Amino acid sequence: MSVMTPPGIKNSGDYIEDVMSIVKAKNTAEPEFHQAVQEVFDSLRLVLQKHPEYRSSKILERITEPERVIMFRVPWFDDQGGIQINRGFRIEMNSAIGPYKGGLRFHPSVNLGILKFLAFEQVFKNSLTTLPMGGGKGGSDFDPKGKSDNEVMRFCQSFMTELSRHIGPDTDVPAGDIGVGGREIGFMFGQYKRLRNEFTGVLTGKGLSWGGSLIRPEATGYGCVYFAEEMLKSRKDSFQGKLCLVSGSGNVSQYTVEKLLDLGAKPVTVSDSDGVVYDPDGIDREKLAWVMELKNVRRGRIREYGEKFKKAIFMPTDIKLEHNPLWNIKADCAFPSATQNEIKAKDAANLIKNGCKLVAEGANMPCTLEATKMFLEAKVLYGPAKAANAGGVATSGLEMAQNSARLSWTREEVDDRLHKIMIAIHKNCFETAEKYGTPGNLVNGANIGGFLKVANAMLDQGLV
Ligand code: NAP
Repeated sequence: MSVMTPPGIKNSGDYIEDVMSIVKAKNTAEPEFHQAVQEVFDSLRLVLQKHPEYRSSKILERITEPERVIMFRVPWFDDQGGIQINRGFRIEMNSAIGPYKGGLRFHPSVNLGILKFLAFEQVFKNSLTTLPMGGGKGGSDFDPKGKSDNEVMRFCQSFMTELSRHIGPDTDVPAGDIGVGGREIGFMFGQYKRLRNEFTGVLTGKGLSWGGSLIRPEATGYGCVYFAEEMLKSRKDSFQGKLCLVSGSGNVSQYTVEKLLDLGAKPVTVSDSDGVVYDPDGIDREKLAWVMELKNVRRGRIREYGEKFKKAIFMPTDIKLEHNPLWNIKADCAFPSATQNEIKAKDAANLIKNGCKLVAEGANMPCTLEATKMFLEAKVLYGPAKAANAGGVATSGLEMAQNSARLSWTREEVDDRLHKIMIAIHKNCFETAEKYGTPGNLVNGANIGGFLKVANAMLDQGLV
C-alpha cells in the first residue's frame, strides 16, 4: 500500500525507526524490552499510514514510557537467621483502559528490562480480553526453588510490606506468574490485609475460600488451547489425534496438557530448566496427575518422570546445544509454555522441517523475532502470546468482577465466559489482520487490535 507523505514530513516507517532508536537509547541493556517493542512497532506501520493522529499525539513515545516504575529493597531472614536482600519491582505501564493488571514473577533472572517487556505486552493483551484492565507487571529476583515454606512466607511478607503502598483493587491488581502460585499469593494477600485492615480483591489467583475464582488456575492453559482450537477451525481442522509438544511443567503447561486431552489430542512432552521428558505413549490423565503432584506438592524435578514411567525418555539440558531437542520431536502442534525466547531460529527450523502445523504461545514472548518471522513465512498457524495466553488475565478480570459483586460464579459459568472470550479474541485478531491487508497474520491482528483500543483511550484522556 502506498500513501502520499506531505513534503518535509517523514513517512511512518522513518517515524517508527526514530521512536525505536529513542527507546533503545533511553532503555539501554534491556534487550527483551526492545524485542517486545520492535514486534509491536513492526505491525503498527500498517496503522500509522491510516491514522496520522497517533503520530501527532506522540502515542508511540508515550505508550513505551511506563506511567510509573517502582523498585525497592526486600530484606528478609532465612531459616538460619541470615540476612537476605532481594530487589522488588512493579511496573505500572498503562492505565488508559483500567487499573494496572498483570502478574508478579519470582525468578533469579528477573530484572527491570524483562519486567518492562512483560508489562508492555500486558497492555495489549489486556486490551484484547474485552475487559477494562490496564497493564502492569512486577516481581523479584528471589528464587523460591529450594526455599522452605517459612522462607517463602517471610520473603512474601517483606515484598508486600513495600508493594502494598502502591496497589489497590481500583489502582493496581497483581496476580501470579513464574514462581508465584497459590502459596505465594496467599502469603502476600495475608500481609496486605494485615497492613491495610481491608479484605479486598487486591490480588487475583486467590484461594477459593477467600475470594478466588474457579477456573483461574486452569485459565491460561485452557484459554491457550481454546484459542488454538479456533486457529485450527480457520483451516477446517481439529485437535483430534494431533501429537502436541508442550514445554515447561508449571501452571500453564499442566492445564494446556489437560485441555489437549479433553479435545482428543496426544501431548507427548513436558520440561523444566533441568531437561525435557519425551513420552512416546503420550501423557495421559494419570501421568498428568502425577506431574501435578510432583510440581505443585512435592516441588520436585521433571527428571523423576523418566524414572517413574519407563518408556519415557529424559534429555538433560545441554547449554552447549544451540537448540532445544524438545522442538526437534516430530509433532503437529507446539505449545511453548515455559519462558521467553525458548524457541530460537534453529528450533523454528526444526519444527517447520518436521511438519508442525500450529504454534500457540502459552508463555510470554517464547519465540525470538527471527523464529516468529520463520513461522509466518512458512504459513504455520501462529498464535502470539498476547492473544493466545490472554485467558489467564481475562479470568483474573472475571475474579475482580466476582469480588466487586461479592459473588462466586460456578465452574461452568467461568469456563463458558473464558471460552467465549478466547473465541472473541481470535475473531478480533483474525478480522483485524484481514482488514489491515495481512490475512492469517495473527501477530499483526493482535498487535493492532490491542493497540487501537488503548491508543484511542489515550487520545480521549488528553496528555497525561
Ligand atoms: P510456573 O508455574 O512457575 O512454571 C514455569 C515453568 O517453566 C517451569 O516448568 C520452569 O522450570 C520453566 N522455566 C522457567 N524459566 C525457565 C528457563 N529460564 N529455562 C527453562 N525452563 C524454565 O510459571 P507459569 O505461570 O506456568 O508461567 C509460564 C509462562 O507463561 C511464563 O512465560 C509466564 O509469563 C506465562 N504466563 C503465565 C500466566 C499465568 O496465568 N500463570 C499467564 C500468562 C502468561 P523450573 O521449575 O526448572 O524453573
